[in-house]
Amino acid sequence: MGDHQVHKFLALDDDDSPAGLSTYIHNFTAAPLARPAVLCAPLGACCWPGAVVTAPADARRPQLEAVRRPGRRWWALAVVPLLRQQVLRMAVPSGAPRARLCPGCGAAAELAEPGGALLLPAGRCGSCGIRAGAPPLLLEVLAVTAAAVAVFAAPTLAALLAVLWWSGCAVILCFVDLRVHRLPDLLTGLAAGGVLAAYTVEAVLSGQWGHLVDAVLSAAGTGLVLLLAALLLGRHGMGLGDVKLAVSIAALLGWWGSGAVVAGLLLGFVFAGVVGVVLLASRRVTRGQHIPLGPFLIAGTWLALALLSWSGPV
Ligand SMILES: [Zn+2]
Repeated sequence: MGDHQVHKFLALDDDDSPAGLSTYIHNFTAAPLARPAVLCAPLGACCWPGAVVTAPADARRPQLEAVRRPGRRWWALAVVPLLRQQVLRMAVPSGAPRARLCPGCGAAAELAEPGGALLLPAGRCGSCGIRAGAPPLLLEVLAVTAAAVAVFAAPTLAALLAVLWWSGCAVILCFVDLRVHRLPDLLTGLAAGGVLAAYTVEAVLSGQWGHLVDAVLSAAGTGLVLLLAALLLGRHGMGLGDVKLAVSIAALLGWWGSGAVVAGLLLGFVFAGVVGVVLLASRRVTRGQHIPLGPFLIAGTWLALALLSWSGPV
């Protein structure tokens, strides 16, 4: 076979049934190490030097097929009231107590109370009729889209849990950042912590620690680089909240390798740059005005995950 080697190996936590057997073929020219790679199709390159990976389209986990069936992603709507409630509570200025009441009439924003209608897709108080929190239907559309991306991108149940958990935090962060220009530490911390917890459980159960190590190293490296950039650029650079969000993104996408982390963050910065230029050109913002970066980083991450689901299994 010359300098080409073909490796076949079992995917994480596969059972012994033929249906659970995934075969990945690596044609190595330089680095003869068995290692799954992604982003090969969208980026035209593998994240492992010298390797070109082909994987059969049916190599997905059979146990994930159940949640991929049409219609199953609508369950994401079940958590929407909780997400709307957290947007209401956390979209407050730094240091202010969390908002638990309707800002119009003071009714409690709980499902069993008149103010509970604020948690429904219309986002309108059932007592005084004002709108508060996330705009009507937008949060619902984002939640279902994120759930669809998660179930198609994640090759294992642990990765699915990680993406769903991170996406739930991210949906809240999007609207909080748009409303009050801040990314609460509690949410960015929960996002990163939940992701790493899911990957740790998978590593312990499967005995394969590679993805967890990749995720931790990606998060640490990204945090260090962006923290230095934020300190050097001062108020013209990223806020510390953006850095913490980027760390959670790096932890999430690190499972797929450093290529996925770079792709996700770059897409986010490109989105932010394009929208910033358009807003400046249309004079809807002025030079020096702060534009929330969080929603763009989150959008870049979801797009990277969508590209990963298209590129095939890890
Ligand atoms: Zn009200």
